[in-house]
Amino acid sequence: MKIIVQKYGGTSVANVERIRNVAARVIETKNKGFSPVVVVSAMGDTTDVLISLAKQINPKPSTREMDMLMATGEQTSIALLAMAIEALGERAVSLTGAQSGIKTDDFFSKAKIDSIDTIRIKKELSDDKIVIVAGFQGATDDGDITTLGRGGSDTTAVALAVALDAEKCEIYTDVLGIYTTDPRIVKDASLLESISYDELLEMAKLGAGVMHPRSVELARKNKMPLIVRSAFDYGQDGTEIIEVNEMEKAQVRGVTLDEDIVRISVPNVPDRPGIAYKLFSSLINLNVHIDMILQNLNHDGFNDISFTVPVDDLERILPTINAFVDEVGASPIVVKKDVAKLSIVGTGITSDVKIASGLFGKIYELGINIEMISTSEIKISCIIDQSQAKQALEEVHKYFGLNTQ
Ligand code: ASP
Ligand code: MG
Repeated sequence: MKIIVQKYGGTSVANVERIRNVAARVIETKNKGFSPVVVVSAMGDTTDVLISLAKQINPKPSTREMDMLMATGEQTSIALLAMAIEALGERAVSLTGAQSGIKTDDFFSKAKIDSIDTIRIKKELSDDKIVIVAGFQGATDDGDITTLGRGGSDTTAVALAVALDAEKCEIYTDVLGIYTTDPRIVKDASLLESISYDELLEMAKLGAGVMHPRSVELARKNKMPLIVRSAFDYGQDGTEIIEVNEMEKAQVRGVTLDEDIVRISVPNVPDRPGIAYKLFSSLINLNVHIDMILQNLNHDGFNDISFTVPVDDLERILPTINAFVDEVGASPIVVKKDVAKLSIVGTGITSDVKIASGLFGKIYELGINIEMISTSEIKISCIIDQSQAKQALEEVHKYFGLNTQ
């Protein structure tokens, strides 16, 4: 059996017409000799609508009930897609995450997949049915419905592809593939024919919005062939995700902008061993994604510690940070919300200092102050003021020659 996993995002199944197109596409894949397992997202902006509905009822709904609610979005899509396939004369069966054997931990709204029991899916496939799986969801050992975090259907797709030992995993989306930057902001962003797992993972994490980062991590770890392509223009090849080509010279492949972060500064923290440990270990159980960390050498035995977190995590972690401030006698924290993280990504770019200096020079030329810098082997990120972030993105993208013309 040659299994192929295809994932269709929300815009690809936003209405009846599009669901019919997807059904036809899936049948075509089957006729080519594949056994398709199809993962779908909720129709259009359904998930957002469900969230706003919940917030009208209760400003702080429990994450368990949120998952119960949000999971219904994908359930609608799977049933409709199965019906559309049956209407075209093929056999199909829709399965929820739980029915597909997807077991997760009980971290509601951000659950991680623990295991996938593929017995049911394999049985349906050997009955010659096209299997349609609800993306973004699973269930705990107790049978409670969980979701994997926004955009989580990508992770469902890759995890299933790995568990089923599929030939490949295709991600169908509303753009032609992976671009050098967000084509909705920079009109002449270029489509990439290929990109390495590492580069794509970095771009996904840095807020490129193209793929759920965990899905790329999973594909990389298991060397699952991954393709990102258009759900509307089947003539296009999309972007192929490949292993790194070691011989390639260091080159910027993409530029990203993340505006959904905040900078938290804790001024006047006593300068003594164990202080950073105390602050960050207090945040462990809150499952928050701390990104950049900066400690300024300060004055008379005191330091300032600054770091960035996703804006959505802010409210949740404030009490813990304030408790730390009280305990060690630091000054009240300063939260800066209008910041953005501009990053360049490319294998080996930090080994060529011309690239870093070029980036900083361009930002300087624009009269923008860099508040924080962090680097890894394949990325350089700068925290800058949000008001000029889009302009900086555009200029930096052009500076590194990534425009189409
Ligand atoms: N429907 C969910 C969301 O909007 C999951 C997904 O689309 O991947 O986040
Ligand atoms: Mg998505």
